[in-house]
Amino acid sequence: MTGDVFVSPEKYSTEVFAMLRSFYPESRLNVFVPESRKEDIENTEKDGWFCKVSVSGSDGGLKADTEIEGENRTFEGSADDAQFKKEFGAWFYSLLSERTGKSLPWGNLSGVRPTKPALYGILKNESRETIEKYYRGEHFVSEEKTKLALDIAEKELRVLGKGFDKRYSIYIGIPFCPTRCLYCSFTSNPIAAYRNSVEDYLSCIRKEMACTASLLGKDPETVYIGGGTPTTLSAAQLDILLSDMEENFNMEGVTEFTVEAGRADSIDADKLKVLKDHRVSRISVNPQTMNQSTLDLIGRKGTPGEVIKAFNLARKIGFDNINMDIILGLPGESAREVAYTLDEIKKLRPDSLTVHSLAIKRASEMNRVLGEKGVGIFENSDETMRLATDAAREMNLEPYYLYRQKNMAGNLENVGFAREGAECVYNIKIIEELQSIAALGAGSISKKVERTTDDKGDISYLIKRCENVKDIKGYLERIDELCDRKAELFG
Ligand code: SF4
Repeated sequence: MTGDVFVSPEKYSTEVFAMLRSFYPESRLNVFVPESRKEDIENTEKDGWFCKVSVSGSDGGLKADTEIEGENRTFEGSADDAQFKKEFGAWFYSLLSERTGKSLPWGNLSGVRPTKPALYGILKNESRETIEKYYRGEHFVSEEKTKLALDIAEKELRVLGKGFDKRYSIYIGIPFCPTRCLYCSFTSNPIAAYRNSVEDYLSCIRKEMACTASLLGKDPETVYIGGGTPTTLSAAQLDILLSDMEENFNMEGVTEFTVEAGRADSIDADKLKVLKDHRVSRISVNPQTMNQSTLDLIGRKGTPGEVIKAFNLARKIGFDNINMDIILGLPGESAREVAYTLDEIKKLRPDSLTVHSLAIKRASEMNRVLGEKGVGIFENSDETMRLATDAAREMNLEPYYLYRQKNMAGNLENVGFAREGAECVYNIKIIEELQSIAALGAGSISKKVERTTDDKGDISYLIKRCENVKDIKGYLERIDELCDRKAELFG
């Protein structure tokens, strides 16, 4: 089913679109923002599924004229724009809920950080009841998700301890993978096509390290090397990268050092030994699913057997903090396939398990390929999420961070589970935006986080960003400019 959505003015389109996508996940919705507002909308031919929202001002406040599938409704609210957005969001959610007979687990919260309000509430010494009222009463969040958000926020603060917003952390992006998975929406390039650029890439990272150390000091708290797949680098290249870290920073003071070794087909003993020798404390070996037929369908090369082998090798070499990622809502996977994956993972007993709900970006290759094959169902359900939660509990892993993405299957979330003491502090900091992060490499985004306290003693964090260019050629050519951008942000 396809349909057209018209929203004016544009600033309301994100909320309207996110809500419609959540209630009508099976529809392919095109969003239009007419230049000349209401008149354009009214003169548009309505072909297929149709919704229009047109917000206009009036003396007493703002007004939203809404039409969905031939039914007209008007909403009148406050003249204050932020307040109007909030009131309209609640009204629009109720309207769609009434029309579809559905309610959404996260209600009308559309942001990627649904635990943040709970965390800030706790920092402000608000009671659990007050925070629950915000989730349940103002945003229609289910009882279960409200509890999850609160439990996770409490856990996050316990894990972080005191002084969590001091110092800074480093992210390094290695945007190469053995091959590109069809569902990928990250900065990733097949290593075979870029092998000749790797040395130059590492030189640029070295430049960014020097510039970061001069701006933020030599004492990062945590370091996370992700991508892409960092272990597509050879053992010698990994050694260069990690030696460069040691030359530029005081690595003895780093409390957590993660390297994603995500694709099992990129892992070998030499690389793992290099990581171990350079004090990497946490790695990730990611199966996504243990069903070979699904791996074939989603274009992820490698086998479940390789995952098991890589995991056992990492244990043998001495890694005592290994994460595994899985994805729920993969095409062709129902509860039975998810249960099988979880059973296989339980045999390995990772120290943490990150459960993702598939997020399909409209442009991703998988959308196109599966569309051609007529496979178009990306439904996730509470049932599979519950299976994953139960499996995590059986392994003594508790939820410790959570985030959401746009277009997630089943409108659910990504949850990180970990055994006590194996929680990834970097993950909490990046999701809750509680500490400055210097991000190095193509496509990475640095954030400067500044804590402020108002007259009432309430804490808030001001966040400023700067981005590195995504494509490798641009990154290599413009490295000096990118260092200048960092200097402008952190200087
Ligand atoms: S391994 Fe991850 S980053 Fe690499 S192509 Fe697959 S999904 Fe993308």
